[in-house]
Amino acid sequence: MEGHILPKECLTNDANAKKLTSTALKSIKRGTIKKKSLIYLELNGCSGNIISLLNGENPDFEYMLSSMVDIKFCNSLMAAEGENAIDLLIKAMGKEYILAVEGAVALKNNGLYNIVGSWKGRPITGLQAAQMLGEKATNIIAVGACATHGGVSAAKPNPSQSVGIEQVLPNKKIINLPGCPVHPDWFLGTLAHLLLYGEPKTDNLDRPLMFYSALIHDRCPRRNFFDRGIFAEKLGDKTCLFKLGCRGPVTKVDCPTRQWNGHVNWPIGDDTPCIGCAQFGFPDAMAPFINYDHDKDGK
Ligand code: SF4
Repeated sequence: MEGHILPKECLTNDANAKKLTSTALKSIKRGTIKKKSLIYLELNGCSGNIISLLNGENPDFEYMLSSMVDIKFCNSLMAAEGENAIDLLIKAMGKEYILAVEGAVALKNNGLYNIVGSWKGRPITGLQAAQMLGEKATNIIAVGACATHGGVSAAKPNPSQSVGIEQVLPNKKIINLPGCPVHPDWFLGTLAHLLLYGEPKTDNLDRPLMFYSALIHDRCPRRNFFDRGIFAEKLGDKTCLFKLGCRGPVTKVDCPTRQWNGHVNWPIGDDTPCIGCAQFGFPDAMAPFINYDHDKDGK
């Protein structure tokens, strides 16, 4: 890695999420900061982000729910259902809350392609919920690729006319956490930062620099193969995956050092190319995810 200069935000970011969440928890215990309410709204998507969050270890997600925030609404995790669940959502709107949104906003037919519940017998669309909750939220976190820019839900031909949440809340600051899915540390670290210090520093696409400031390619353990022109020809090869279609050279996020599933491995560590899931434009702009036509130089 000699000669590759990394932004200073990268140098400590592996410790960041753990340090942030443990500082937030201690501060809440000591009473120096207060727990905030969190509304976790799931819109048009596969619920892959909430499943990923359940793998959280800094702290684990259940501990976070009870210790760091008061979670008021979460489509997948709450016990209440039907109008009882919407009652709780409406009650939560009466006080301050942070809004986390997973999934895209479906615009087709006035939002009717994505219904999140009903109220007094009338459907509530994801579009209505996102706008209503977003306008009143103290902070908004877009969790995962569908929420940040439409992601898989907006992939061609995009039959539901899905878009990212920024498009329906143009005047609100949104902290973007792209990824398919999001890493639990990216979400929990951002949430802890909000509780302790307010909004984290972000780049020009509103992604927290503490997680999204360096290209995967610049910290990849296979970079020396790339520099010497030694490329894998098939999945399973241990050299640079560029010619199989690796999107590490255009994807800014900290997977090489943070790793996944309890920090044990990541796609390139398991001999599959990065598919650029944490980059805006995913998936259409990153396809095809694998390429065996070596004459095209991996493009
Ligand atoms: S495997 Fe991908 S990220 Fe790693 S050096 Fe090769 S092209 Fe770059």
